[in-house]
Amino acid sequence: MTYTDDIAVATEWSTRALGLMARHGVVPLPENYDIWFRYVSGHNSELNDEIDKRLKEGRAIDEKASAELHQRFASHETLAEAALDAGEKLNVEVDKIMKLVEATADGSNELGTSMRQASAELTAKSTPKDVRRVVEAIVTATRKMENRSRELEARLNETKGELKTLRTNLTKARNEARTDGLTGVANRKAFDEALAQEIAQATREQTPLCLVIGDIDHFKQFNDTWGHRTGDQVLRLVASCLKSGVREGDTVARYGGEEFAIIMPATMTGEAEKLANSIREVVQARELVKRSTGETLGRVTMSLGVATMRPGESPAALIERADACLYAAKRSGRNRVVSETQDLPIRAKAS
Ligand code: GH3
Ligand code: MG
Ligand code: MG
Repeated sequence: MTYTDDIAVATEWSTRALGLMARHGVVPLPENYDIWFRYVSGHNSELNDEIDKRLKEGRAIDEKASAELHQRFASHETLAEAALDAGEKLNVEVDKIMKLVEATADGSNELGTSMRQASAELTAKSTPKDVRRVVEAIVTATRKMENRSRELEARLNETKGELKTLRTNLTKARNEARTDGLTGVANRKAFDEALAQEIAQATREQTPLCLVIGDIDHFKQFNDTWGHRTGDQVLRLVASCLKSGVREGDTVARYGGEEFAIIMPATMTGEAEKLANSIREVVQARELVKRSTGETLGRVTMSLGVATMRPGESPAALIERADACLYAAKRSGRNRVVSETQDLPIRAKAS
């Protein structure tokens, strides 16, 4: 979740968060910082209320309290909890409906009994008054039954709406948990899942599979020159070039800070290399303009590595080989694609 993409605001919040942690004797560990940064941002009133309450009551925010707060308000498990909540709500709804169905069934039994009794009461000697009384009893029982059925129908309709909302919310939560907040492409978690799945499928179906890992060249320098926020815009732009450059069935993911990965099922090395090259060209061709001022910022380039799955290989091994190709691309001058068909120089960190 991104609270702000304004570096000045984030810096100010960060300073305040660290100050508060020092004041309350909180150990400056990442999880603790996460809570206090959220606190200062004021994005979650429940979290703020909880912390304010503890402070007011003079309770220390020690390790245990921090862990609890993190679990409740900052961990990604909250999405799973939302799903559990939704499940709980659904249980209550289903329970209500079951009760109504039971009541309606009772009503229908009652109606049957009334009818039977009524017909038993009517004999050849019954007077028109008797008949009228019996008919009235039947009409009353039938009305009651009708009302219950109507109530049940209305309730079922309501639940249908509720179910639809629940399903939409669950889908949204699920998608959010798998999407990179900045660029909108798959995040690392979704990438890991997709890669494992695609490798399994390729193995099962004996089809080729390629993995491309790309990294923006000299991005640190770009950030240093134009600012982190503008850098973020470039990350969005690069992600959109990747998304529009791949085919249906390929998975584009943000693999790390300024690194992206593309999983290409049913693809041979040469084809993957060609695709990676066309993406590289599209990125390089985009002239960057600062949105707020219209200022021209030049261009960014990307280096990409292409690896082809080997039978029985683990995802980690495939990633490592794609990464080795990427480093080779960096070492041999950047803004290029290196695949395994080319001779790789011995792996060393690009300078
Ligand atoms: P190289 O060509 O060797 O890849 O050089 P580089 O400068 O791109 O590589 P380096 O690993 O030294 O720096 C990566 C930079 O990416 C550092 C960091 O500022 C930037 N970066 C990582 N994540 C983000 C992000 O989310 N937003 C922005 N704006 N920059 C990011
Ligand atoms: Mg990098
Ligand atoms: Mg880089």
